[in-house]
Amino acid sequence: MRRSAVSLALACFLAVPVTASLAQGDLSAAKPGRAPDQPIDQEYTKKILEYTTEKFFLSPLVDYLPASKTVPTPKAVLGDIAGGPTKLPYSHEVYAYMRMLAKASPRVKVVSIGTTEEGREMIAVAIGSERMIARLDENRAKLAKLADPRTIGMNDAEAEKIAADATPIYYVTGTIHSTEAGAPTALMELAYRLAVDESPYVKNIREHVITLITPVVEVDGRDRMVDIFNWHMKHPGETYPNLAYWGHYVQHDNNRDAMGMTLKLTQNVLNTYVDWKAQVLHDLHESVAFMYDNTIGDGPFNAWIDPLLTNEWQMIGWNNVQEMTRMGMPGVFAHGNFDTWSPGYLMFIAATHNGISRLYETFGNGGTAETVERTLSAAETERTWFKQNPPLPRVKWSLRNNNNYEQTGLLVSLSYFANNRRQLLWNFYEKSKRSILKSRTEGPAAYVFTANDPRPGSQAELLRVLQKQRVEISRATAPFSATLPVKRAAATGGAGGRGGRGGGAPAGDAPAAPAAAETRQFPAGSYIVRMDQPYSRIADALLDFQYWSPNDPQKSPYDDTGWTFPAGFDVQAVRVTDPKILDVPVETVVGDVKSPGGVTGTGDVYAINANGDNALTSLRYALKSADFQSAEEPFEAGGAKFARGSFLVKGVSRADLDKAATTFGVKVTALAAAPSVKTHPARAARLAVLHTWTSSTQTEGWWREALDFNQIPFDYISTQEVAKDANLNAKYDVILFPPTQAANIVEGSPMWRNPMPWKNTPETPNIGTWAQTDDVRPGLGLTGLANLRAFVSNGGVLVTALGTSDFALQNGFANGVGSVTMPRGKVVGSLLKSRVVDDASPIMYGVSDNLAVYSDGGEAFSVSSTRGGGFGGRGGGGGGGARATGRGQQDDADVVQGRPALDPRFELPPRPTVQPWQVAPVTDDQLRNPLNIIPPDQRPRVALRFSEQRDLLVSGLLDGGAEIAQRPAVVDVPMQKGHVVMFSVNPVWRGETIGSYPMVFNVLMHFDNLNAGRKLDPK
Ligand SMILES: [Zn+2]
Repeated sequence: MRRSAVSLALACFLAVPVTASLAQGDLSAAKPGRAPDQPIDQEYTKKILEYTTEKFFLSPLVDYLPASKTVPTPKAVLGDIAGGPTKLPYSHEVYAYMRMLAKASPRVKVVSIGTTEEGREMIAVAIGSERMIARLDENRAKLAKLADPRTIGMNDAEAEKIAADATPIYYVTGTIHSTEAGAPTALMELAYRLAVDESPYVKNIREHVITLITPVVEVDGRDRMVDIFNWHMKHPGETYPNLAYWGHYVQHDNNRDAMGMTLKLTQNVLNTYVDWKAQVLHDLHESVAFMYDNTIGDGPFNAWIDPLLTNEWQMIGWNNVQEMTRMGMPGVFAHGNFDTWSPGYLMFIAATHNGISRLYETFGNGGTAETVERTLSAAETERTWFKQNPPLPRVKWSLRNNNNYEQTGLLVSLSYFANNRRQLLWNFYEKSKRSILKSRTEGPAAYVFTANDPRPGSQAELLRVLQKQRVEISRATAPFSATLPVKRAAATGGAGGRGGRGGGAPAGDAPAAPAAAETRQFPAGSYIVRMDQPYSRIADALLDFQYWSPNDPQKSPYDDTGWTFPAGFDVQAVRVTDPKILDVPVETVVGDVKSPGGVTGTGDVYAINANGDNALTSLRYALKSADFQSAEEPFEAGGAKFARGSFLVKGVSRADLDKAATTFGVKVTALAAAPSVKTHPARAARLAVLHTWTSSTQTEGWWREALDFNQIPFDYISTQEVAKDANLNAKYDVILFPPTQAANIVEGSPMWRNPMPWKNTPETPNIGTWAQTDDVRPGLGLTGLANLRAFVSNGGVLVTALGTSDFALQNGFANGVGSVTMPRGKVVGSLLKSRVVDDASPIMYGVSDNLAVYSDGGEAFSVSSTRGGGFGGRGGGGGGGARATGRGQQDDADVVQGRPALDPRFELPPRPTVQPWQVAPVTDDQLRNPLNIIPPDQRPRVALRFSEQRDLLVSGLLDGGAEIAQRPAVVDVPMQKGHVVMFSVNPVWRGETIGSYPMVFNVLMHFDNLNAGRKLDPK
């Protein structure tokens, strides 16, 4: 399609003439091109031309390398030029080069910015003129005033002076995605050019912008990627494994952590960005031909960022397209299928902290340095309004080509920044100022976290996320009240309905009555997140609700549509719009927010309320030998109320308990005597987390992270190990099988061709350090399936979610459970409201009714008393569907023509109402020969269901939803002596769903008493 347009465009690629020399001092008018009087590195330049597959994949900025007598080129470390076909450098090689550069040039400085989960270093490299590098601190002090206008009393005149004088900082980050492997070499060479090149174009950049570079963001993953590449190079012709693990926890999702801030790489980059007072965070990716400046992306734009920023995206992005088009490089475009709704991307740290987020997708070869033939799809190569010079349909593509595009794009951007620095620094100040003024203009004025929240541990966790985002937290020194608008009742009939608060007009067309106001009291010690601070936007973006209209023209959300942190954490956060809240006397919280803990009262029985804080599980594991009993009913003791599931602890010294409870922030009440309440032991399960070698390990990483963070020990086992172990019960009480694709779990990969090891060897020193196999191809197999079934049948508990729940359904683990999807409606990473069905189930101890749960794509279950699932109760949406097609209206009876009216004795007895989440009662007909009827004690027990359709949506996108409304979301399925606990939602997601963790953690403590409180069907 449109081939003629492409070839026409090709005909227009002419060599761009080398720049003319410029009058001194007029650097801003400099054209790209080498300095005629600076010698070039002939040998290096020759290689650049050799490795670039077509002339038009070069630019006048990178078609040569300036020579230096004192500064080493990347070849000093690589043994070849940057972008050569046989070399991907390890992180330590990249760092060695950057440090060589810093040693040789006063224009370069390298700093350490922290370490990864596995202890590898992360660095940042600053490059600027000698003068700038010598005065980094002085410049930083100036930028700090723009970053926090409160420090200069919001004095615009002073800010203007600083903006005219200070040097902006442009922060570039590379290879967060390990299979997008080209950035480190591009950034090594870019650093060299910026330090050495005397061309007016580069000199202009060097003198007016400080370029800050983190060449490797995902350092653990980088080193593993290089291992795999090297293995591949040493075993030509053999198949090689996919990169099973990137970072220690997650793969691609490491670029979705800028909300939850759980990963070291996110924390280190955010701290660097904020502490250096940078204006840009530009993240390099490599998955689109040939260069997609996806900074601008497509709508809907994030609703909490400053429009000044979205305009900057357009200006800088289009300048990039314009200049590279001028250079004749094909396939450079902005816009495309990326929406900027979610603030979870690494680059978005800048967007939510008053800077400019930027991202390139260049064209990578999927983790190899080799030059390969690439064929592009029609969609990639057709000319569109935003892609006037599209990529070529078939191309020989090299790492060097990729490096050319990355460097050229960055140099063009840096040049734009140098030339517009005053305006962009002013914008930086203005955005910071508007973030402070937000409290009194668009609002809200603050969010309040009440001191009497039932879950102080989860509250502290949420506030610590804000602290990692560098949001200031205040604490009220006295009780106070706030006036809150009462939310208008939602009009009926709106598509999908809308949950939660917020000032938006409800769906529907009836004008709502004016909102009344209510006054709410808050105790002293309540936390206040004031919006009159520079980083108010990230707080607002995380704490507010999201609404993605089913009618939005964007039909393919790029990522999650809803993330409301207080909902996902099950913590109260009150959005206050009345600016009077800013007058409440507060103190600034210094140090991490911590929930209070420790033992109070007297006696040697210790009671701990089951409040749903995850710290309860940490405490249980920390005091492994203590006797924890769990109350099966609520009780009162020592003047306090204790919820069902509360602990009564014995067999531990008060001192030890007090110490652990203080550490974990758990309140313990000492009682003189144990209350009379039915209890069962709450033990610390011996736990395994199960993974495959054939399906993605992406989503399970968040589960491992949650267990590690909560100090819950586990073995990490693969389906291959399960296949070899016929007695899993000897080692484990509970096996968690976090979400992965159901396909191939049993089968594995095809066994043709060669074995593919994922193994720690001298050849591959960075892989297999915590999970390894001689061959990634075999799956669970039929023996493994039998072993896993035996584990459950003999009393073990298997926990599944999403894809692994499908696996359980498909492989006979889930009698009486069926799967329900939304063929017509749509959910894309939304928070949906749930309801507790069985609060006596230990899975639900401490879990709130109305909890917001994370739904990936609107999955749900059905339950029945017959083998193989079924459809449970009638009609998901209620109302319709109760009668067959016939005469009359919906509530009329049909009339058979030519037959007298039916005698009542032929009529069906009234059927009991069966709700969509219930197992329908067994009929006498069914019991005549109940071959396929599940005995009552083996039937699925529904713990949690989705809410009614009208209030199902909490945050994000919900289109329709009748199919899943009221349907089971968490089901406990007995299987002989054991259980399978199945989730249709993902309870452990990106550190954003702390409020759902207890449903998993409770299984770990009540694995041998999951039947507690169960009421069996009578027949
Ligand atoms: Zn990427």
